[in-house]
Amino acid sequence: MSSEIAKQAEARRTFAIISHPDAGKTTLTEKLLLLGGAIRMAGQVKAKGENRRAHSDWMKIEQARGISVTTSVMTFEYEGATFNLLDTPGHEDFSEDTYRTLTAVDSAIMVIDAAKGIEAQTRKLFEVCRLRDIPIITFVNKMDREGREVFEILDEVAEALALDTVPMVWPVGGGGTFKGCYDLVREEMIPFTGEDSYGTPVKAELLGDELPNLIPGDLYDTLLEEADLAMDAYPDFDLESYREGHLTPVYFGSALKSFGVKQLLDAVLQFAPAPKAQPAEPREVEPSDSKVSGFVFKVQANMDPKHRDRIAFMRICSGKFKRGMKLHQIGTGKSMSIHNPIMFFAQNRELAEEAWPGDIIGIPNHGTLRVGDSMTEGENIRFSGIPSFAPEILQRVRLDDPLKAKHLSKALESLAEEGVTQVFRPVIGASYIVGVVGQLQLEVLLSRIEQEYGINVGFESAPFVTARWVTSDDAAAMKHFLDRNKGSLADDRDGCPVYMARNHWDMGRIQEDNPKLNFTATRER
Ligand code: GDP
Repeated sequence: MSSEIAKQAEARRTFAIISHPDAGKTTLTEKLLLLGGAIRMAGQVKAKGENRRAHSDWMKIEQARGISVTTSVMTFEYEGATFNLLDTPGHEDFSEDTYRTLTAVDSAIMVIDAAKGIEAQTRKLFEVCRLRDIPIITFVNKMDREGREVFEILDEVAEALALDTVPMVWPVGGGGTFKGCYDLVREEMIPFTGEDSYGTPVKAELLGDELPNLIPGDLYDTLLEEADLAMDAYPDFDLESYREGHLTPVYFGSALKSFGVKQLLDAVLQFAPAPKAQPAEPREVEPSDSKVSGFVFKVQANMDPKHRDRIAFMRICSGKFKRGMKLHQIGTGKSMSIHNPIMFFAQNRELAEEAWPGDIIGIPNHGTLRVGDSMTEGENIRFSGIPSFAPEILQRVRLDDPLKAKHLSKALESLAEEGVTQVFRPVIGASYIVGVVGQLQLEVLLSRIEQEYGINVGFESAPFVTARWVTSDDAAAMKHFLDRNKGSLADDRDGCPVYMARNHWDMGRIQEDNPKLNFTATRER
């Protein structure tokens, strides 16, 4: 059995695409799904989004802002392997959600715009990948438009991200003169015709006759010259170094024209790691372990307005999951039989009869499952590394109708479970304080409290600018601190103490004055 599990795990690639808004993530996703046969016609990723929007009220914000705020998982097959693509919300205010999604992938594709290079959001997301040593394949997009010099882009990636870059293909021309890419490894030319096409490679030795049609003379000379320089300037591709997160292979193309997308997906198939051992307490979990285990990295409500329950997204880390199986939620002692696990294909959700390490299943539930939960067949294993982040905006929740206090508490608790917000209960005072990473998250929160729970609330500024979780090995020092700072303390939804600072100076002073305490900006569940 475990050899079958290992074989299935080996055939899986679970990955995400990281990019700055507008670099072309949606377009690339669509072309990958097309290539995997998961959708038939271009335009369906967006069309589906619009359809969803039309049915769902809270996504009005999404519509008004023209952004995508939901995370989804899409599964497709290609060349005998199963690909699980985890979509990450592109807007910077949703970084917390995005960061958590990155805990559930084994590798990432980084898309950059050939004209813009590394942008703010790419850099932030890259840092998260680096924290977890997630290997990255780079795709330089929009080669059909005027962009920067190829050397300049490669050097920027190398410098900005402190990463070895290895061009796997070399673009010929760019913008209006873009003629395709020369595959430096396979030694073949992939001509770009301007049509929407994955491109048909032509072996270098056959280029003789075709050459004048494919590459005009001057561009050919430039290619020879640049390819020569590139061979000297950049290291050879090294699989181990890529998998350790030190090196990124770089591909060039045009997602809009599907060009280069096949080379990219082939690279994911060939180089990207299959699911590997996951860090957990008290022991690492190997995918080939015979018992099923997994962790919840996202909870989402209201995906289908007709069904009001929520879906917990669980990454399977080991074993063969079968529908109907009973799993234990570590920490609460609860167990649940998973009768309706869902797998997500581009156009529909289907019941998952079985799932393997690396797969993501959606578990419908009524709020039992929370982000960070570990699930096993019984063994007490906790997956580590799913963080909460210190909020950058703290606001007091003002309730218009005091009779609805209990109702509000439930609403906030639910939304916190989904990771829409963090909720803090001040030690002194009655009103809740919500913490978010960005302004837009606050708008989503307000709109959902009103529309889904029918409660009118407002937010008013809390006198705090930031929060830190407080821990200590020294119980006496901890108690002393908690007793003396009640006015600035709150409990998070797990009852862990949080210090809320009025300004950054105060935060610094408190840390200096209490050397026996740890103040952390993230907390792992
Ligand atoms: P996202 O915000 O990263 O998901 O970006 P989109 O996929 O929505 O693309 C942003 C814009 O860039 C859209 O207008 C796309 O049509 C356009 N775009 C995406 N890829 C390419 C490309 O390869 N070439 C050109 N010229 N435009 C592109």
